[in-house]
Amino acid sequence: MKILVPVKRVIDANVNVRVKADGTGVETDNVKMSMNPFDEIAVEEAVRLREAGTAEELIAVSIGPKQSQETIRTALAMGADRGIHIEMDVAPEPLAVAKLLKAVCDRERPGLVLLGKQAIDDDAVQTGQMVSALLGWAQATFVSAIEFVDDGIKVTREVDEGLEVLQLGKPCVITVDLRLNEPRYASLPNIMKAKRKQIDVLTPAELGVDAAPRLTVLGVSEPPQRQAGVIVETVADLVDKLRNEAKVI
Ligand code: AMP
Repeated sequence: MKILVPVKRVIDANVNVRVKADGTGVETDNVKMSMNPFDEIAVEEAVRLREAGTAEELIAVSIGPKQSQETIRTALAMGADRGIHIEMDVAPEPLAVAKLLKAVCDRERPGLVLLGKQAIDDDAVQTGQMVSALLGWAQATFVSAIEFVDDGIKVTREVDEGLEVLQLGKPCVITVDLRLNEPRYASLPNIMKAKRKQIDVLTPAELGVDAAPRLTVLGVSEPPQRQAGVIVETVADLVDKLRNEAKVI
């Protein structure tokens, strides 16, 4: 079985994101970029499945500018076998990503597409769900445990009431949650080995996909500054402030 893992290049989770002065987006010049953290978890899980002999090949796919190949190289250094880069200069919207991933699935026929539950830059939480709809494959989202059983895949999801266990047939789409595993750091020898692994470069046109944006960003702004808090001496003071200043009781 092949596993396809889409990996997105995003602003590193530890960077303090700044809005551009003209309000058209966020600053990405000279900003540290990394693999979306949920995608690291997906790569880790896929590598573990390959190491356990459950999967034979692990393909990392990234859609974005040339530098997205660095993100693919990180996946290759963690253990992915080969990469596919779909080059696009504009940031693709989730529907475009889903259509492109469907086109890759039509070519590669993976048994499983393992995505992050969410990209930390656009917070869309849409791509996995849309890929599964476009492919007509079963999906399980926000998965915190995966077990291969004879006739499919058993997954555990954290839901409000506790843990939900579902079984899916293959091929299917799974989006992964934080508690699935602890991703490994790539070792130096594996980083060196990853430099020699194959990355195929494609364009949306070669895949027959119209990836043009459908949304217009009207503006991006910083959240309002939080007011400093005050310490009150007594409960009576607190009630007075809530009633007469904040007017919430
Ligand atoms: P989103 O729906 O944007 O929150 O993203 C959910 C998941 O879809 C991510 O964790 C990735 O696995 C995948 N994904 C989204 N955008 C891209 C992209 N440009 N390249 C590769 N994978 C992506």
